[in-house]
Amino acid sequence: MRSVPCRGLDKPWSVITFGCWQIAPSGGWGDYCSPEDAEASVKTALEGGITAFDTAEGYGDGESERRLGKALGSQKDEVLITSKIWPDADLTLASYQERLEGTLRALDRDLTAALGRPVRLQNDANCFAISEATMGIAKNYPFVFGVILGTGIGGGIIINGKIHHGRTNIAGEWGHHTLHQNGKKCYCGKKGCVETYISGPALEQHWKEITGKTQSLSEIVKSPMNSDFLKWRQEFLDNFGTALANVIDILDPDVIVLGGGVSNIEFLYSDGIKNVYEKVFSDLVDTPILKNILGDSAGVFGAALLD
Ligand SMILES: [Zn+2]
Repeated sequence: MRSVPCRGLDKPWSVITFGCWQIAPSGGWGDYCSPEDAEASVKTALEGGITAFDTAEGYGDGESERRLGKALGSQKDEVLITSKIWPDADLTLASYQERLEGTLRALDRDLTAALGRPVRLQNDANCFAISEATMGIAKNYPFVFGVILGTGIGGGIIINGKIHHGRTNIAGEWGHHTLHQNGKKCYCGKKGCVETYISGPALEQHWKEITGKTQSLSEIVKSPMNSDFLKWRQEFLDNFGTALANVIDILDPDVIVLGGGVSNIEFLYSDGIKNVYEKVFSDLVDTPILKNILGDSAGVFGAALLD
């Protein structure tokens, strides 16, 4: 079975995923797969090299998850299991948390029970933002926009020490606002998202398109100031400038903090800021754009600060 790497996961994913809907009873289909057959099917899939299993809390009211968990037994640590929140879930963090915990219990993976303490969920950009706003470089600013510029791009909005989630929990997701209407295709289904231009992989890809060379970002920024480098740098600065100017125009935060691998590029704090200011609506713009001080630990600190 061929496997492919999957961004953000440390295990490869088999190219064939085992769909678990029909191993559970369903309103339309009935319960034609017995628990024994379900177990046998999952074991056959494992023997065939399948390492990815797709299930949902709504498949047979969790019975699919229970049967999958039982069939996987001690092999749960070796596979990837995707689950889904049923559309009737409330669009709140508490509801997602409750549903996910239900899934983990059905899979016999009850983190709350295993750890003996409540489990809280939050995305990495919000964790980064709240840690920098509480104990990092932005701790003296009431309204903080934290940005992760890394493999992906995320953002978090902190107002008076609290994460602002928004009505549908997407507040701060600036990585997927449109920079170029008919731009590069993004995995999210849209075109021209910020992430497809100024994430680490996007910048490396653009360098390859200009020069034909495959180099890491840290190597690229050490390149001589030739025309290729200046072109790459200017396009990067223009995209960075527009993306953050849009944020300032809409939110006007007291400070913006940059994190993630791309935030280590020094020219963002000189020419980058200049480019942002040129594109902001107000001539009075002086929003500080600062490098984080908590480094790679910011997300972990932020997770510990969740209430
Ligand atoms: Zn996108």
